[in-house]
Amino acid sequence: MRKSLVLGVILLWGEVLAQSQSKLSVHWEELTAADFRSAIQQSQGTCLLPFGILEKHGPHLPLGTDLLNVRYVSLHAAEQEYAVVFPEYYFGQIFEAMHEPGTVAYSAPLQIGLLQETTDEMARNGCKKIIIVNGHGGNEHLLPFFAQSQLERQHDYVVYIFDQRVPSSGGPPQKTSIDMHAGESETSKVMISRPDLVHMERANNESGADQHRQNLPEGLYTGIWWYARFPNHYSGDGSAATHELGEFQMNWWIDTIVKVICAVKADQESLQLQNEFYEKAKRPLATQP
Ligand SMILES: [Zn+2]
Repeated sequence: MRKSLVLGVILLWGEVLAQSQSKLSVHWEELTAADFRSAIQQSQGTCLLPFGILEKHGPHLPLGTDLLNVRYVSLHAAEQEYAVVFPEYYFGQIFEAMHEPGTVAYSAPLQIGLLQETTDEMARNGCKKIIIVNGHGGNEHLLPFFAQSQLERQHDYVVYIFDQRVPSSGGPPQKTSIDMHAGESETSKVMISRPDLVHMERANNESGADQHRQNLPEGLYTGIWWYARFPNHYSGDGSAATHELGEFQMNWWIDTIVKVICAVKADQESLQLQNEFYEKAKRPLATQP
């Protein structure tokens, strides 16, 4: 009796040990070279590039808020639906916050060049399906432009952009109507990803109100629009944040990324269509309707 119990414990322990040894990290930088090969196989060549930034986030949140939040959800999603997650990446568009301390704003050509070389290098290492998970609102024009630029020359991989950070409906009712940057939603999310970095008592030290300092008709765009409306690089009221709202939004974000990873793994059309397009683009006169 006792012998079989001991044997059972040993067998169970062996199983646990084997499992812990075979479970691959989702972090690119934590894998050994040999395990990286297995990781690419297990992920079916699907990799995540969580994209953050370094910029002021109101008077109460850390400079790396977007990076911290987007990595939190990307890593949790990849744990559920296996994908390899690229290390910290924060080389995006943030010229509009250059007047604030701690902002790191790379030049426009470097942003595009570095992103292209990064995805090229990821693909050379087997990431044939790259999902850029955007954590920063200021990248909203850069990333679709980057995706479109992939048609310029032939690539043997597909770039997918996922650029949603808040659900369009549901969840606990919100108290504020303006909530674009370091406000109710974003502050609530940091309360989940890094609660130790939220300085809630400072959330009202500055105004995050819309200052309406530009009078132009709708449809007319300028790069200074954000500074005109939110010169403190704060839009909303972080003091309205709650743990409950953060939990709802973060869980929604993670679940949605899991669905995105599944859809990308199942996608057989995009690369095939890209290849067809590149071939035709070499001989446009031969293209028939
Ligand atoms: Zn942010």
